Amino acid sequence: VNDTLGHTIGDLLLKQVATEFREVIGKDDLIARLGGDEFAILHAGCDSGLNSAAAIAEKIIARASRQRSIEGHAITVGASVGIVATFDGQEEADVLLKNADLAMYRAKTDGRGTYRIFNPEMDAVAQERRLLELDMRNAFVNGEYKLVYQPQISLDNQEIVGFEALLRWEHPERGLVSPEFFIPVAEETGLIIQLGDWVIRRACMEAMQWPDHVRVAVNVSSIQFMRGNVINSVMSALAASGLPPQRLEIEITETVLLEKTEQNIAILEQLHALGVRIAMDDFGTGYSSLGYLRRFRFDKIKIDRSFIRDVAQNRESGAIVHAITKLGVSFGILTTAEGVETQEQLFHLAREGCTEVQGWQFSKAIPAEDVSSVLAV
Ligand code: C2E
Ligand code: CA
Ligand code: CA
Ligand code: CA
Repeated sequence: VNDTLGHTIGDLLLKQVATEFREVIGKDDLIARLGGDEFAILHAGCDSGLNSAAAIAEKIIARASRQRSIEGHAITVGASVGIVATFDGQEEADVLLKNADLAMYRAKTDGRGTYRIFNPEMDAVAQERRLLELDMRNAFVNGEYKLVYQPQISLDNQEIVGFEALLRWEHPERGLVSPEFFIPVAEETGLIIQLGDWVIRRACMEAMQWPDHVRVAVNVSSIQFMRGNVINSVMSALAASGLPPQRLEIEITETVLLEKTEQNIAILEQLHALGVRIAMDDFGTGYSSLGYLRRFRFDKIKIDRSFIRDVAQNRESGAIVHAITKLGVSFGILTTAEGVETQEQLFHLAREGCTEVQGWQFSKAIPAEDVSSVLAV
């Protein structure tokens, strides 16, 4: 409310809401505004099943979300409630509030407009999360991140034309941590911007050791794309390494074009103007809109692994792969099949006119120091 309507209406709204809440709580209960849009309610004499507290939470959620109008503005409000019990009153007030907050946070992440009752496991999850975040920051200092490279093979001549850089985290205790686990955390905490910047720099540096015709593909998270400064990251990585821009390929997913499409296409155009190539990653999985292909001239479409897996057996997967490769041919865009694991898939893709393949059939991702020996074969 504050963002769009200014403080006055926001405050009016909160006063109104607080008054309404007072009507649904018990006459011995207390309500206080904690600051911002958060309220605390102290409810006395609850049964051990917390039924009366849950009933109040339900009433509050229903009350808050009623249609309302303030100074001519139609306003919708949602409420999320966290409940914590203290039977003997032994806990410190700030511990109670912290636990109520954890429960409220859980209510929010479980879909808003609902309530959750605190349990100690919520604290453990939050604790685990904080440790992970801290670890991820330390990993920079300790040099625990590294890149591995998976070859991309041209079906024209069976030669390696590039490598996709894939991030790895070698944690001293956790072992090798999968990017599928830590990248979402990095995205939530904003660390992805710093991490993504490091990935681009590192990939450009390492690619400088390879022959001139071999490209490097780098994944850029949509969060980094929208909140960071990708153009600066790319320009400084190219300048620091001396890598020719044509040898760098940026992989983005469709989520980049989902919001602020015009603004993000403008960024893609600027990257193109630098001479950098742009690939559409995981094509077919997200919000695939052919319109995106018309609005920006991608250099490459990467067909998602989920379609390649059963391309030879499943008619629908076969039809999707067929359609994407044909689209690529008529648009003059390269098509790369991801996750090629068998000879059968390979034959099928070659027959369809797919231009490049990547997958365990050829090679898993390898350490930087092994790239030259793979290229020599
Ligand atoms: P992705 O971009 O789709 O990367 C391809 C993933 O498929 C990689 O998993 C790769 O190891 C795996 N793969 C390759 N060939 C095969 C195959 O034949 N069979 C199977 N089953 N899998 C194969 P990885 O390295 O675990 O990366 C997972 C995801 O994490 C990536 O998916 C990408 O979205 C993200 N990621 C990895 N590195 C980075 C990075 O530096 N930055 C960002 N933003 N995301 C990254
Ligand atoms: Ca809030
Ligand atoms: Ca990728
Ligand atoms: Ca992919």
